[in-house]
Amino acid sequence: MTGPSTGTDAVTGPSTEADAVTDPSASEAAAGVEAASDAAAAAGGAAPDAVPVLSVRGLSVRFRMRGGAHVAAVTDARFELAAGECLALVGESGCGKSVLASALLGLLPENAETAGSAFLADGTDLLTADERTLARTVRGRRVGLVPQSPAAHLTPVRTVRSQLEETLRELTGVRRPELRKAGEAAAERAAFPLGHLDRYPHELSGGLAQRAATALALIGDAPLLLADEPTTGLDRELVDRTVDELRRHVGDDRALLMITHDLAAAERIADRVAVMYASRIVEIADAADFFGEPGPRHPYARGLLNALPEREFTPIPGMPPELSALPEGCAFAARCERADEACRSVPALPLSGAACHHPVAPALEAPRA
Ligand code: SF4
Repeated sequence: MTGPSTGTDAVTGPSTEADAVTDPSASEAAAGVEAASDAAAAAGGAAPDAVPVLSVRGLSVRFRMRGGAHVAAVTDARFELAAGECLALVGESGCGKSVLASALLGLLPENAETAGSAFLADGTDLLTADERTLARTVRGRRVGLVPQSPAAHLTPVRTVRSQLEETLRELTGVRRPELRKAGEAAAERAAFPLGHLDRYPHELSGGLAQRAATALALIGDAPLLLADEPTTGLDRELVDRTVDELRRHVGDDRALLMITHDLAAAERIADRVAVMYASRIVEIADAADFFGEPGPRHPYARGLLNALPEREFTPIPGMPPELSALPEGCAFAARCERADEACRSVPALPLSGAACHHPVAPALEAPRA
């Protein structure tokens, strides 16, 4: 996939720089959980007694640019993620999906403005939590990041063993003499071979660097794993192995949000798929329906699948709009053969389905007049 880059489409930053756990007060946490339940109920998702691991509502990110211009990187995102579930957020480069991930980790640059909410199950709103809370109680502990560039994420002058042990010390309090054994257990959890633990990041293959980063992300037993383009630069076999390994870590008490432009990886791992286009989520669907029958309902999402070589190999005509100059109405209209007058207004996104005035209905498909 290709598309214009905003220069803002990468998540960066450490996930483990924490030195003490400072939980919010019980009353704050209770109020937050209630807010998360309310958010879930308002979004029509899980029942109040089944608080989602993550509940995102109305999340928008704007970047202030020089000269008073704005870049709308994320607009009104809304989704939920339940324990045991993997949601793949897919879309072309520059559509805003990695900015969304940065917002969830509190890693946006200073010129970013956010709106909406993103509640964890414990009631923490990731959009309003201060940096101290994010650093000490969220990153690594409640949200584990599997980064886009594992080799760059790892500290180049320290061995994998040293980095695992440091993270264990910070996040779990394990001390010598147990530290060495705990480090090896952490490596094994991500299928990182013990014989490579004393290597430096530059001595690792792409696949092993990915496993080292995954091992670090798992140490805090965070209920939410956030994987940002974890398969970038890997060959197909390694992509399959990486997503299979990530999937292994989704369980009764953990959810995975995987951000990717790789539809094959998404099909392999996801329970549900959210498609992003020009800063908005335009379709949310069960993965089996999306990749199988009846297929995507949003014309853009359908076009994405049809562009794959193993499908119709037919590219979507035209290019996405710049996020700094989004059109009024549906942002896909200039490329959409189904566009008409109704598309001058932005279509709403249902809880499950497509944000489209004329969604594709395969069973009834007939040429539009
Ligand atoms: S709202 Fe209109 S322009 Fe947008 S995808 Fe649907 S049919 Fe096409």
